[in-house]
Amino acid sequence: MMKLIQISDHIYKLSIQTTVGIPIIINTWFIVSAHEVYIIDTGMDDYAELQITIAKSLGNPKAIFLTHGHLDHINGAKRISEDLKIPIYAHKNELPYINGEWPYPNKTNPENTGVQYKVKPLATATNLPFIYYLTPGHAPGHVVFFHDQDQILICGDLFISDAQHLHTPIKKFTYNMAENIKSGQIIDKICPKLITTSHGDDLFYSYDVYAIYKFKYEEQTI
Ligand SMILES: [Zn+2]
Repeated sequence: MMKLIQISDHIYKLSIQTTVGIPIIINTWFIVSAHEVYIIDTGMDDYAELQITIAKSLGNPKAIFLTHGHLDHINGAKRISEDLKIPIYAHKNELPYINGEWPYPNKTNPENTGVQYKVKPLATATNLPFIYYLTPGHAPGHVVFFHDQDQILICGDLFISDAQHLHTPIKKFTYNMAENIKSGQIIDKICPKLITTSHGDDLFYSYDVYAIYKFKYEEQTI
C-alpha cells in the first residue's frame, strides 16, 4: 500500500505499508520551499525510485535530512542521494553509528547503512525552511524537525502515534526509554499544530497529549 498526501501548505507525506521483520507503516516527508524539495527520511531502498519520482515532481530536490540512522529511515538514502546528486544530513551524534564505527548502544553489530562517511553534520546545513531539535533516547543523535510556518513537527521515532495518542517507540530498538520519554517534552515547548511520526497517524497537538503519554509510559521511580 502506498499513499501520498499533502499534510500542510509545504509538506507532503508518503506512507508505505511494508514488512521490516514485522508489518509496519513507514512515513517519509517532502518539504517544499520555493521550488526546492527537502526529503525527510528515506525509508527502504526498495521504494527509493518512487521517492525520487515524487521529489522531482514537487520541484528541485535539494537535500536529504535524517531523523536518525536506523535502517528503516536510512536504507533508501544511498540510491536517492546518488541519483539526485544531493547531500545527506544527520546530527553529528548519529554519525559514528551511520558510519559503522560503533554499533548502536543496544546492538552488538554496526549497521551497514550504505552511506558510511557520506553524511554531513546537520549544523553545516544553512538556510533551511525548518529547524531541528536534538531528542536522544531512541537513537543517540535522534532529531525532530519543526516547520514553523506550517506548524508541523516531524518526530521520526520519538513517538509512535495514532490519531488520538502518542506511544513509545519499540523498546528493543530504543537504547534509553527514560531519556526518550524526557526528550518527548519538546512538544510542549514547541506546541505545534500537528505531530507526524514515522510509524503511525498524524495527530493534532493539545496540552494534554504529552501529559497523558508521560503518565502512561513513564516508569515508577520511587
Ligand atoms: Zn528508529
